[in-house]
Amino acid sequence: MKAILVHTPGGPEQLRLDDIAVPTPAAGQALVKIYKSGVNFIDIYFRSGLYKAEPPFSIGMEGAGVVEAVGEGVTDVAVGDRVAYAMQRGSYAEYAVVPSWQLVKMPDGLDYAQGAAAMLQGMTAHYLTHSTWPLKPGDTCLVHAAAGGAGLLIVQMAKMRGATVIGTTSTAAKAEKAREAGADHMILYTEADFAVEARKLTAGRGVDVVYDSVGASTFEQSLDSLRPRGLMVSFGNASGPVPPVAPLTLNNKGSLFLTRPTLAHHCANRDELLWRAGDVLGWVDDGKLKLHIEKTYALSDAAQAQIDLASRKTTGKLLLDTIT
Ligand code: NDP
Repeated sequence: MKAILVHTPGGPEQLRLDDIAVPTPAAGQALVKIYKSGVNFIDIYFRSGLYKAEPPFSIGMEGAGVVEAVGEGVTDVAVGDRVAYAMQRGSYAEYAVVPSWQLVKMPDGLDYAQGAAAMLQGMTAHYLTHSTWPLKPGDTCLVHAAAGGAGLLIVQMAKMRGATVIGTTSTAAKAEKAREAGADHMILYTEADFAVEARKLTAGRGVDVVYDSVGASTFEQSLDSLRPRGLMVSFGNASGPVPPVAPLTLNNKGSLFLTRPTLAHHCANRDELLWRAGDVLGWVDDGKLKLHIEKTYALSDAAQAQIDLASRKTTGKLLLDTIT
């Protein structure tokens, strides 16, 4: 089968299309023939070496396809099931073995592109808005990169929960997309001081929670956007990892809370996974949650997909077509 492997962490040119054997599912695993693979920023962190794996390593954390075989003891899924999954590396490939508990059966109304587009960023938006800070009417949240893959879904879920959403983007065209997704106010954070603007929009008080996936370049100002005892949710490193923070900083800026969560700890068992994925895929199925699939690349063009994602050119979701 064809699979993208990284033999040496580094630039996009390190994504190599190799021919390798189709894996055999061990006990508790299923073999999935992948039709579509999601492209996510976390793939860039692994490829570049920011997140560690033993080379040569497979890449891609999200896919949708059909179960072709199951290992011993598997009861969660059966051969022929249409499934989607996230947070298991190896989806930039024609086949992947996945622990069966991580596989979710897709509603009949969804195609593989929707399945692969919804899982990782959708469950991330779900835990951020439902668990990390369970938004409620009256809350105001600040969402960075609001037209990105995760961003557009956070905006929609925040609105579903009745919050006021202030979004940031680098361009007016991206801001328009975030507004279409429901954002109440948009700030071009490449032109304006978003902390100043966020305070103006909240009558000087500051926002209740910041969902910050940008990292290094926004961290300080994000803290300055919060109301006293507000929550800073640093959940990504698109501009680079955040440097160490002194706890006293949180005191000085208003007894703030700081968390650095990851999806892996928010779909840690089958019940939690089925809750979040069930909500996300169900909302897509009944039209409550809109996916914005910007472009689908050939598997052999995975490097270009990552280049486009890293260069701030894209909005919404990027996919790979894994049927070669
Ligand atoms: P996006 O589609 O959001 O792409 C990243 C966006 O970040 C860009 O489009 C850009 O938007 C913004 N950005 C700001 N500065 C930079 C920079 N220097 N370089 C590149 N982009 C920049 O990607 P994803 O939706 O895949 O991921 C978004 C973030 O969420 C990532 O940091 C990812 O790691 C994180 N994430 C974290 C998870 C978790 O559980 N912790 C799970 C899923 C995603 P603009 O042009 O508007 O500034």
